Amino acid sequence: MTVLDDRLVSVYDEVLARNPGEAEFHQAVREVFESLTPVVAKHPEYLDSAVIQRLCEPERQIIFRVPWTDDKGQVQLNRGFRVEFNSALGPYKGGLRFHPSVYLGIVKFLGFEQIFKNALTGLPIGGGKGGSDFDPKGRSDAEVMRFCQSFMTELYRHLGEYTDVPAGDIGVGGREIGYLFGQYKRITNRYESGVLTGKGIGWGGSLVRTEATGYGTVYFVDEMLKATGDSFEGKKVVVSGSGNVAIYAVEKVHQLGGTVVAMSDSSGYVVDEKGIDLDLIKDIKEVRRGRIADYAAERGATFVQGGSIWDVPCDIALPCATQNELDENAAVTLVKNGCIIVAEGANMPSTPEAIRVFVEASTLRFAPGKAVNAGGVATSALEMQQNASRDSWSFEYTDQRLASIMRDIHDSCLATADEFGAPGSYTSGANIAGFIRVANAMQAMGVI
Ligand code: NDP
Repeated sequence: MTVLDDRLVSVYDEVLARNPGEAEFHQAVREVFESLTPVVAKHPEYLDSAVIQRLCEPERQIIFRVPWTDDKGQVQLNRGFRVEFNSALGPYKGGLRFHPSVYLGIVKFLGFEQIFKNALTGLPIGGGKGGSDFDPKGRSDAEVMRFCQSFMTELYRHLGEYTDVPAGDIGVGGREIGYLFGQYKRITNRYESGVLTGKGIGWGGSLVRTEATGYGTVYFVDEMLKATGDSFEGKKVVVSGSGNVAIYAVEKVHQLGGTVVAMSDSSGYVVDEKGIDLDLIKDIKEVRRGRIADYAAERGATFVQGGSIWDVPCDIALPCATQNELDENAAVTLVKNGCIIVAEGANMPSTPEAIRVFVEASTLRFAPGKAVNAGGVATSALEMQQNASRDSWSFEYTDQRLASIMRDIHDSCLATADEFGAPGSYTSGANIAGFIRVANAMQAMGVI
């Protein structure tokens, strides 16, 4: 583990003591703290004024009961969460995740990361995250609708376009955002478009929002490649997951001349050396809500049940599924197989041990999720801008804005890493650049 400044160690110990049993949250805090030693050496005031301590304590945490009735008439019970982490730069902004693994520690890790990611975009958005342990898999549309309505019946009182603006994440796509927005509108009697992002194109949504996280991930990697005079042309790419982020990452890789040879879901992975047939994946995942194994069966590709997708040799690896999906063994395999870039489309997909392997490898460059996947939330902020001005922008214009935001984030990571003595470290650059922006705003606003 990287050695932390002594005073950061005591703040970290306090975080552990105040938030017992929240392993993912601890991991996310530790990851940021590991970059902050040179910052507090230059600016001890961030510790003296307890900005760092305050940053680790959410402004507000909401936990609520979500009862709903299934198609058989049985009452089901889930737990809902919204962690409003930091509003120094703007309204709380961050997605909702519906997945059985969701508990407070997951929501807090995501909310904490979101603060720095949102700051990196340069747009006026604070950090928050929410969700539920509800599993939409195997549920009918009517069940998902009743769940979303019950969830929003409690959450609406905490939201508002100037207060807290949720969006999608794992298990929450266009269908869920539609049901959530409908219930918000009904309860409040307000057509407040800017209260949720990821809306449908015909009713306040932004073009490019669906594609934004995946496209943005690949734009970021394209900048990494350009920085060394390279390009996607002819590169073999592995993308884990087959959800929203993964699908649009694949689409952009193919547009830029690379070939994606493997994708996955939680049951296993497919290898298709000819290049993933994206129309088929979209049909299976977005239309039929099927499994990745169906792709192998229909396309005549190889399906490996369980196993590690990172065993598939590639030049570029894009983990786009979930947290801690890429461990130390996988990292060693990627390095051994000659992978030159690992860029995180998902939030915290690499374990700390895997990141250590990447950092020590001289042949590979690593970029963290809070920089790489920031295109999703950035485009959500562009959706808010369009809603506020009652306007809608063209696909081309919005896509250009996204590409230019990703270029700026890339450049600011490298410039900040240089400034703080960690040249070439995208992790240090992202953590420090995001931190400084939020910390300065917090200091300006006094002890709140
Ligand atoms: P989706 O629900 O659309 O897709 C998630 C994908 O990951 C599915 O293919 C899912 O498979 C797979 N997956 C989930 N858990 C596992 C696992 N344990 N092992 C292997 N595969 C798994 O979610 P998104 O694409 O929206 O999100 C993916 C990641 O990107 C998350 O970390 C999210 O926080 C992050 N992110 C998303 C943004 C967005 O705009 N959507 C923005 C920024 C970050 P299965 O269907 O079998 O569960």
